[in-house]
Amino acid sequence: MGETEDERTAQASQLFENFVQASTCKGTLQAFSILCRQLELDPLDYSNFYSSLKAAVSSWKVKALWTKLDKRAQQKVYNQNKACKGTRCLIIGGGPCGLRTAIELSLLGCKVVVIEKRDTFSRNNVLHLWPYTIHDLRGLGAKKFYGKFCAGSIDHISIRQLQLMLLKVSLILGVEIHVNVEFAKLVEPPEEQPDNSPGWRAEVRPSCHPVSDFEFDVVIGADGRRNTLDGFRRKEFRGKLAIAITANFVNRNTTAEAKVEEISGVAFIFNQKFFLDLKEETGIDLENIVYYKDNTHYFVMTAKKQSLLDKGVILNDYIETERLLSADNVNQEALLSYAREAADFGTNYQLPSLDYAINHYGQPDVAMFDFTSMYASENAALIREKHGHQLLVALVGDSLLEPFWPMGTGCARGFLAAFDAAWMVKGWAQGKSPLEILAERESIYRLLPQTTTENISKNFEQYTIDPATRYPNLNSSCVRPHQVRHLFINGRQD
Ligand code: FAD
Repeated sequence: MGETEDERTAQASQLFENFVQASTCKGTLQAFSILCRQLELDPLDYSNFYSSLKAAVSSWKVKALWTKLDKRAQQKVYNQNKACKGTRCLIIGGGPCGLRTAIELSLLGCKVVVIEKRDTFSRNNVLHLWPYTIHDLRGLGAKKFYGKFCAGSIDHISIRQLQLMLLKVSLILGVEIHVNVEFAKLVEPPEEQPDNSPGWRAEVRPSCHPVSDFEFDVVIGADGRRNTLDGFRRKEFRGKLAIAITANFVNRNTTAEAKVEEISGVAFIFNQKFFLDLKEETGIDLENIVYYKDNTHYFVMTAKKQSLLDKGVILNDYIETERLLSADNVNQEALLSYAREAADFGTNYQLPSLDYAINHYGQPDVAMFDFTSMYASENAALIREKHGHQLLVALVGDSLLEPFWPMGTGCARGFLAAFDAAWMVKGWAQGKSPLEILAERESIYRLLPQTTTENISKNFEQYTIDPATRYPNLNSSCVRPHQVRHLFINGRQD
């Protein structure tokens, strides 16, 4: 009898370990489904799932993870997983910010469904992490999922590793995740018997997917810079022409590679001599360059147009940037050489072989983008009301505020917005009035574009979804309810 018990513990531990170690999106979902089947756990029983999983997987190896997650879950703000009991949320997009929001909403006790149009996490590019994000991710057990997480003084992570760990935490906390499902549009509640008419739903592709029957009270747009939800006008910040190049090279983890120093963006922006020498020696003219050593050797740089023309990367000079950077106006071979040469110079020719890593499309992982215009949504949230059903609609991550890649602000500000959105959902579940909720959310959103590592609270241990724990000098009522009336869109205005 005792032996059977031991065997069962060992088997559960092994199944959980397979899940923790899975290295792809599909592999993680598969390992999770095997884990649930073998241990007879029902992942749809979202409010009990985490405690059932903990009871089923109790080996010493996972205890440290449970301790961390318990500590988080016990924050008062979640009211023991009951703060938003009964609230149903749909999250569009399984990028870092969609998943980070999913985790908070599930800790609040919401039923959370994430739809993600792809089934692979393939972005090698690397995100800079602010100290608070490192602290936050450590608190979610990042090191258990990815042993190399922020070892030593490392303060960055590849997008795909970040997605992978957040996906695992989400699943553990009972979030329902559907990949290969694309959000198309919201479906309004039909005009029927007000008492039991269906509520808000989503039209998705493929159209027959069961998630199209899911009724929700909150929808979060986390689908990246091309946000698909209506009602969010975009503000454009137009700067001088900025062309960014990202490049990823294979990291063979040799001693020689380990010795090469990273280039942190902030330090290098001020080093004018470096850029002058680079230009003189190679003809490459950059405004900045960042190098992070991660799963790949990752470089992001902002290049001046004239040097791209001189080096034959861009073929013809056009005024419209879209035409300038269109595929038929770019010499791909020359672009590969340009980025490699810049990387080589930037690392003092110390990286032994700069072989391109292969991207999602089976091509060398280099990309060139226009950063002249960056977008931010004018508002962070709105409320729709139709036939007696209210829907809280909010944006997070790049959909809300686009980051400047060389500074890597996307994930740091994205997580702050994820917490702020969760705070709003809590207010909503507590029955605050729509205009009050919207006014508070827009007041807090005003702070987001100005946040830096310096001006947010340094007391990371105290961070919760309550904005007062993160923003010193917070004024949650600088936007007044009458200023957000247009964000409460009810049937009468249609
Ligand atoms: P994203 O990471 O863009 O995630 C959005 C998710 O939504 C994606 O998984 C997408 O597949 C999914 N999706 C989109 N539309 C739908 C839909 N209709 N239905 C369902 N799912 C949908 N930042 C940097 O700082 N440095 C970089 O080098 C860098 N490189 C990047 C490279 C690429 C190709 C992209 C897309 C972004 C890059 N970023 C980079 C931005 C950075 O990834 C984001 O700031 C960060 O990941 C947080 O973004 P997010 O979760 O809001 O959105």
